[in-house]
Amino acid sequence: MSEKRVRVRFAPSPTGGLHMGGVRTALFNYLFAKRYNGDFILRIEDTDQSRFVEGAENYIINALTWCGITPNEGVGFGDGPHAPYRQSERKATGIYKRYADQLLASGHAYYAFDTPEELDAMRKRLEAAKVASPQYNALTRQNMRNSLTLPEEEVKRLIDSGEKYVIRLKVPRQEEIRFQDLIRGWVVVHSSQIDDKVLLKSDGMPTYHLAHIVDDLEMQISHAVRGEEWLPSAPAHILIYNYLGRSADMPKLAHLPLILNPDGNGKISKREARFPVFPLSWKDPRETEPYIGYCESGYYPEAFINILALLGWNPGDQHELMSLMEMTERFDFDRVHKSGAKFDPEKAKWFNQQYLRMQSDTALAKAFEPIVKEKGIHCTLDFLTAYCRLVKEKASFVNEFWDLGSFLLIAPDSYDEQIISKKWNTEDRPAWKGFSEALNTTDPFTPDAIQNAFKWRSASGPKLDMQLLRVLITGRSGGPQLFEVMALIGRTECQKRIDAALLRLS
Ligand code: GLU
Repeated sequence: MSEKRVRVRFAPSPTGGLHMGGVRTALFNYLFAKRYNGDFILRIEDTDQSRFVEGAENYIINALTWCGITPNEGVGFGDGPHAPYRQSERKATGIYKRYADQLLASGHAYYAFDTPEELDAMRKRLEAAKVASPQYNALTRQNMRNSLTLPEEEVKRLIDSGEKYVIRLKVPRQEEIRFQDLIRGWVVVHSSQIDDKVLLKSDGMPTYHLAHIVDDLEMQISHAVRGEEWLPSAPAHILIYNYLGRSADMPKLAHLPLILNPDGNGKISKREARFPVFPLSWKDPRETEPYIGYCESGYYPEAFINILALLGWNPGDQHELMSLMEMTERFDFDRVHKSGAKFDPEKAKWFNQQYLRMQSDTALAKAFEPIVKEKGIHCTLDFLTAYCRLVKEKASFVNEFWDLGSFLLIAPDSYDEQIISKKWNTEDRPAWKGFSEALNTTDPFTPDAIQNAFKWRSASGPKLDMQLLRVLITGRSGGPQLFEVMALIGRTECQKRIDAALLRLS
């Protein structure tokens, strides 16, 4: 453990809806912060103006709020001592430029004036020469237009005349870069693998590489916890911290494993997935169709984050159902896996089912009530509570309750054909009528009493089939405990349904 106060940040770019991988990154940051009584910060990394998407920032804030992963500093959650928390606003203070200037002054960064055409020509040249990874680096920069190859006066003239330039990191040619990742252990990379990353773009905006380092330093971040896709850039980041003379203040790194498709092939793609990928429904202004979220699909936020927590982490035993509080008590990076975590949509449903079962029947009824009202049906909360008690065992989502038990509210107008053709016998009609009448004296109208009446009727005449009774009452061949169903809908309704069926069935 670092001796520094734990301060972690979730630093999404507002380039679209926050998908489940992003939420998991936020969650692991949150769990780690809470575990060590630290701070969890939301920083919006919006320096790439060309990728900015309207609505994305609000979406991020709403999604974190729904999940209950609330930052204690940052955009949308109240300013702390390091405001502002949006990089575009931080840029206005000149802070990124100051750090870039420091790197220029110490000779660890340089100006590059190459036009897009010149960069393209360079890439083609390298490709033609079969260079495996054509990049701007210690070798190739020698043939390009930059402050390392041009005379000093020319560099000055170009800058003064308003020529466009970027500032690049001067990566050494032969150096071994080592760093320790909390999840992956020691990582060793040779500097020849790293390109001279752009630090400041021609529009004056810092790139992610410079901006996040400046902000992590300024915001006293103790741990940078982020997706695996940033691992290849980490060696360049190590160099930047060293060149700034701030390696002692560098956050510890933790690169989280990918979340993979159910078949283990590749990372989850929002277009191909046959399950929700976003926490809340997301409508991308550049696309026509919205993506339905976990929330709108009927997931509980507690179930959703429980599912996410176990994608790449385990608490060290078989424990699966955990509240945010329990996860917080048990979370650490030593049990985060290196390899990708397969997402299992069926298991996700199972989790929701477990959380659904933890709800009280009244809570379920309240959640179900709007669905019933939308169907134009009005009934008491007491009735709905009993309805939910009967159907919940078979459900993973409240929105399945209607299909599982609508016969409790609406009498059937058709009857399961298979059962009818197999079991219905016109000659039994008087016996069924007799059972219907016997219900008049079934008092109190409880499941046990109804069951006794049915048994007695069957014993004293032609044997009445229980499955057929279910079909007469509900129209269906299966469902919740039948005598409970009958007790709930009541004596008169049961008699009405049996009598109607006797009339309909020839
Ligand atoms: N803005 C980066 C992203 O959206 C953040 C990476 C990091 O956490 O350092 O992935």
